[in-house]
Amino acid sequence: MNRPIQATIVTQNLKDNLNKVKNITNQRFVWAVIKANVYGHSIKSAFEGFSQADGLALLDLHDVHELRKMGWTKRILLLEGIFSEKEIPQIIQNECSIVVHHFLQLEWIEQYLSKLTPFEAEDFKSRVEIWLKLNSGMNRLGFKSGEYGLAYNHLIHLGFKVHHLTHFANADEESVFPTVADQWEIFEHTTQWMDGFRSAANSSAILKFPHVHADWVRPGIMLYGASPTGKYQDIAHIGLKPAMILSSEIIAIQEISKGDTVGYGSRFVAKQNTRVGIVACGYADGYPRHAKDGTPVWVFLPSPSDSQLGVKVGLIGRVSMDMITIDLTAIPQATIGSKVELWGEHVPIDDVAMFSDTVGYELMCAVTQRVQLKVL
Ligand SMILES: *Cc1c(COP(=O)(O)O)cnc(C)c1O
Repeated sequence: MNRPIQATIVTQNLKDNLNKVKNITNQRFVWAVIKANVYGHSIKSAFEGFSQADGLALLDLHDVHELRKMGWTKRILLLEGIFSEKEIPQIIQNECSIVVHHFLQLEWIEQYLSKLTPFEAEDFKSRVEIWLKLNSGMNRLGFKSGEYGLAYNHLIHLGFKVHHLTHFANADEESVFPTVADQWEIFEHTTQWMDGFRSAANSSAILKFPHVHADWVRPGIMLYGASPTGKYQDIAHIGLKPAMILSSEIIAIQEISKGDTVGYGSRFVAKQNTRVGIVACGYADGYPRHAKDGTPVWVFLPSPSDSQLGVKVGLIGRVSMDMITIDLTAIPQATIGSKVELWGEHVPIDDVAMFSDTVGYELMCAVTQRVQLKVL
């Protein structure tokens, strides 16, 4: 038998979460954002789970090939655009929409166009839509407001179909500069005389700022059932469903006495006789090494009638490469072989993240190769 750790992806929950986005946004067009191997959930799960999305947005041409091979015929958008002129033939072949965020990318496009026959050039322009990116205050990617019109006119002159996109720096806050309102105003003002779709809202903005939903929304984290703010209570009322369940088993149990310690650095010191469960899951699986004592872990208990019956217990001692240790003192029924959920339905990934000073985003992306991924 394999080591018992496993990440189960519940495709139906991806579908339900996408549906929720459609409802919240009044049926806006949706780019399902699937960068970083679908936030750790696998391309296969996106293909099935987001079959009702209007497009998939990602970063790697490799994933584009895979999706087209699987039979995805709707739009695909490369969120960082092209990284060199060399990628253009594959962009055309795969009918990929691209973000253009810099004059250098424009030059590559123009250079490539100049080498084509008129027929090939028309083919390029009919297959590849351009999403011009405005830097409205995030100061990462995008043309400044003052340059944007130039880039737009240039692309229109070349004969491309051009749409508009920007990204918020503080969509999970009301009043940190630049605010959503600040950035939205710049976006609206800069693009007001231009044709094309507009897209601005990530998960946070979808949830908090309906007036910026525009034509296309770009949800990522909420599709996977986690909170863009890092706090589970911020999404608890919405009914998003966790798409990834990280589970394993107890592989050993130690009974220790008051004063005994557990694991590397002896971080945990027993204040009483303690029953310690050893779980086959460590930082080499993607469990956060910085998780503090008390990080919740769900232990399933044997029950003839309720397969989900269990108890939330706490992590004790430092997370090691292949194992964590948990406090089973309160549940003598737990044994070697008892199933454990690290995050998923009973333990929100946001809660584990909080105990490790990070966010669900990082945890789901960080599940490693050695964890078996099972797509349900
Ligand atoms: C990652 C990303 C998103 C999705 O963000 P979430 O916070 O996961 O919803 C949207 N737009 C762009 C440009 C992104 O890079």
